[in-house]
Amino acid sequence: MAQTNTFKGNKQSLPSKPCKTCGRDMTWRKAWAKNWEQVLYCSDACRKNKSPTPP
Ligand SMILES: [Zn+2]
Repeated sequence: MAQTNTFKGNKQSLPSKPCKTCGRDMTWRKAWAKNWEQVLYCSDACRKNKSPTPP
């Protein structure tokens, strides 16, 4: 469960995953350390694009 705390000094093993909207690979960022599992989009634009029908 705590595997996300083992990245120190090992930049080549940073995790990555595709953006839900545009499919581009997003590489793990320090800013995402606390919520990496919740990061689904590479940018605010993609985050907004997730729902094609605005309220
Ligand atoms: Zn994207």
